[in-house]
Amino acid sequence: MFKKIIIANRGEIALRILRACRQLGIQTVAVHSVCDRDLKHVKLADESVCIGSNASSQSYLNIPAIIAAAEITDAEAIHPGYGFLAENPDFAERAEESGFTFIGPSADTIRLMGNKVAAIEAMRKAQVPTVPGSNGQLGDNSVTNLRIASEIGYPVIVKAASGGGGRGMRVVHSKENLLNAIQITKSEAQTAFGDATVYLEKFLERPRHVEVQVLADKHGNAAHLYDRDCSLQRRHQKVLEEAPAPQIDLNARKQVFGACVKACKDLGYVGAGTFEFLYEDGRFFFIEMNTRVQVEHPVTEMVTGIDIIREQISIAAGYPLSFSQEDIVLNGHAIECRINAENPNTFLPSPGTINRYHQPGGPGVRVDSHIYSGYTVPPHYDSMIAKFITHGSSRVEALKRMEIALSESLIDGIQTNIPLQQDIVTDPSFLEGPVSIHYLEKKLGLS
Ligand code: ADP
Repeated sequence: MFKKIIIANRGEIALRILRACRQLGIQTVAVHSVCDRDLKHVKLADESVCIGSNASSQSYLNIPAIIAAAEITDAEAIHPGYGFLAENPDFAERAEESGFTFIGPSADTIRLMGNKVAAIEAMRKAQVPTVPGSNGQLGDNSVTNLRIASEIGYPVIVKAASGGGGRGMRVVHSKENLLNAIQITKSEAQTAFGDATVYLEKFLERPRHVEVQVLADKHGNAAHLYDRDCSLQRRHQKVLEEAPAPQIDLNARKQVFGACVKACKDLGYVGAGTFEFLYEDGRFFFIEMNTRVQVEHPVTEMVTGIDIIREQISIAAGYPLSFSQEDIVLNGHAIECRINAENPNTFLPSPGTINRYHQPGGPGVRVDSHIYSGYTVPPHYDSMIAKFITHGSSRVEALKRMEIALSESLIDGIQTNIPLQQDIVTDPSFLEGPVSIHYLEKKLGLS
């Protein structure tokens, strides 16, 4: 096992990684920006290194500074968490070239999945069901593009091959708008991602977002940890997640799990990964693969009993998976609410000092958070400050526990989206069962 790991991230996920390292008896190095010196994991880590000023580009995205910190502290492996450099193949490559183990798949796999056109092609080969679409990037021929779109059938969605974070997508309802939409998406994609490649997909009108968690080791073993429903989204950003995904056709589910595990084996995938699908009318349609641990991984941990981060680390160290597929038995239901420092009505970020913090507790309640009384939320990074996770023997019990957890928590001094989450977990339609990806925006009057 590794002796020392450097945590190339911040906030709750950095603390979560530190806890997994401690459990495995691994020493930790925290790297941080100037304003992050008081982060909980920085204080708890065996060593810490300030790697730059507050702007992410100068610190958490600063590859040479992170590699240098790993060198001076004599760390053996780098855990990238999520966001920042977690899906940057150049970072994975640089880390490995400098003699460190990157805790994640190979740079080639990250690069393949980072290009959605190539990823979809790889999935089609592995017989993972994909959204009907252009089956490749669009060329410059207007006549051909119009023909492809009419074959798919309107509405269609123009998507950037290198897009991410919900950006680089445009829905087109009729042929009159197609060519213009392709042009605009291409130029936006060039500016935002440095790659103008776009492709077409059928725009599904009322799908759910259902994703499959996988783990694969360096010995050819791969297993799935069931699914999650992440349909409650605002601007393509997830707000609340749950596991397992409720009311999924059992046959479709069995098939998709099998296809995901087979795809991992075909691709020689190593580490934790998530296959993201849209699910409509009992059918799964692949949209992309995330080659890292996800924000919502705790709901899967709660219902499977597997520590995903610990598994990531031991896989990277060369150990086989600590379990086999048959060992995974679903236990109850779990809900995660992302708690953001933001105005619950306008969604504008609300950084500042937390004067008083009381976190929820009780049976089936888990809180993954780096905040504490007196902690100042900086304005420079993502506004997520905590994840409340509840577990129960049923969906109803998990939701009730979440309602109670939200009502007893106190985060004084800044605004948070707790009122929005309270509204969601008591929403009659959501309590009744799963909703589509458009539900939350409609409820909020945003679409
Ligand atoms: P990103 O990498 O930016 O997260 P994704 O391809 O994962 O992009 O899509 C993000 C979200 O956009 C999905 O969860 C879904 O809400 C919506 N979306 C993407 N593709 C489609 C589609 N073909 N039809 C309907 N909605 C879509």
